[in-house]
Amino acid sequence: FYFKTHGGEPTLYTYNAPYDARHWFPSWDLPGDKATSRITVRAREDHHVYANGALVGVTPPQGGVRTWVWEESNAIATYLISVTIGPYATLLDTVEVDGIDVPIHHEVFPEDTTKARFDFEHVGEMLRFFAIDTSEPYPFDKYGYSEVPGLGGAMEDQSCVTIGSPLITGTRAYEDVVAHEAAHMWFGDLVTPEDFRSVWLNEGFATYWDALFSKHYYGDDAFRDRLLEFRRRDGPLWDSTPIFDPPLARIYSSIEYEKAALVLHMLRYVIGEPAFADAIAAHVDAGRYGHATTDSFQAHCEAAAGTDLQWFFDQWIYAAGKPSYLWSWRETEPGRFALRVEQSEAPLFHMPLPFTAHGAWGSDELRIEVPAEPVVEIDFALPGALDSLRFDPDLWMLCDAEQQPWTGIGGAESDPKELVALLGAPSPNPFNPRVALPLDLTKAQSLRLAVYDTRGALVATLFDGRLGAGRHLVRWDGRNERGRPAATGVYHVRLDTANGRSRTTIVLLR
Ligand SMILES: [Zn+2]
Repeated sequence: FYFKTHGGEPTLYTYNAPYDARHWFPSWDLPGDKATSRITVRAREDHHVYANGALVGVTPPQGGVRTWVWEESNAIATYLISVTIGPYATLLDTVEVDGIDVPIHHEVFPEDTTKARFDFEHVGEMLRFFAIDTSEPYPFDKYGYSEVPGLGGAMEDQSCVTIGSPLITGTRAYEDVVAHEAAHMWFGDLVTPEDFRSVWLNEGFATYWDALFSKHYYGDDAFRDRLLEFRRRDGPLWDSTPIFDPPLARIYSSIEYEKAALVLHMLRYVIGEPAFADAIAAHVDAGRYGHATTDSFQAHCEAAAGTDLQWFFDQWIYAAGKPSYLWSWRETEPGRFALRVEQSEAPLFHMPLPFTAHGAWGSDELRIEVPAEPVVEIDFALPGALDSLRFDPDLWMLCDAEQQPWTGIGGAESDPKELVALLGAPSPNPFNPRVALPLDLTKAQSLRLAVYDTRGALVATLFDGRLGAGRHLVRWDGRNERGRPAATGVYHVRLDTANGRSRTTIVLLR
């Protein structure tokens, strides 16, 4: 219970998530247990009581007190049970969602009614959009928000969101939060994670669908802005902590919100629009008024896509981090091209990557499968010459990506496409105990080939001198300058010549 005052008047609200329901009613306080609920409150006659489900009765004032009864006839998890009490004004409306009238019921402080009407004006459109996108009608008896003092956010209590006063501005500055909580009615409240190891099924989904609502209502630019905003939350936590089973202190952190939303967006790209829609519909249908797990969601995705997705979930849900790509391309013969993709940081990811190719002939969307290898070269064909290749213009991928000049080194004065030195793909890679580095020289030259660790410190010099034209194979036995075995890890091999520098990545597995 949070006892606060508003304008000198006492108010009360509850905030149970994740494990605080037990402090005000006896319960098996885990999201895996659902029941119906009935809340009876005696309150001052001039105060309103607001809670889950339908208001089944309120008595006339008697001795300055009224008794309110709210009943949630749909299954509800303990952390979503809520009651708020205060000197409220009631805002009522009805919106049609999928042919069904949904009562809208907000409780706000009287001086905020104009602001709240404006801020909540798109709620009907939100519910309609989420109902269509999940293939599931609005699931509860009513929907609305109650304003509470001293809360800097909002909580998706079932059918009665609790929202802090600072978020009601009359400017829709927090419409993303309003939409996020509305999306929770499907993702979290109707379909509840069996336990909070899968809290991303709540927060990642609500965050993604609030961005999808911005796309639906405001257009593609608004959606791009949201995706870029999500990416700006990337930080050390994203590289260290997997989405699945976060520590208690990280249940409500950006890995479960923004990162999980971006992972869902990638999943949509990986399995495609129709399969993604089918998977979401199946996830909601199977879990309605019940539960879901990360495993059950994965199974729905695999069934809809008709393919195994363990690799995707292993990389993005059960492990931390994101890939870092260095990529380059060159024309190998008219209409044929080589794309070279290097992953410069561990862990290495397997992903299909989107590229858009532009030429005089038009443009083409390419989807290129990049395996979890340090360096790959992939051939592709186009109808004509390639003017430009753009990586992921539609922002599907969560990764770092940087285009580089082709890793071969061109002649200084001749055609820049003419290569005078080319560092080929290392083999085997990952390696243990030895790796071979092919070096193709079109003319004799002086060069230096050396191995560095990921911080740029020299590990071993492999060659330093002059070599003739032709193919050379330089080997490294995984030992450093002092002859000691180097540790397991990612290393960079750098070729320095008078014409420039080229680099590749190798992985030593002890
Ligand atoms: Zn949320």
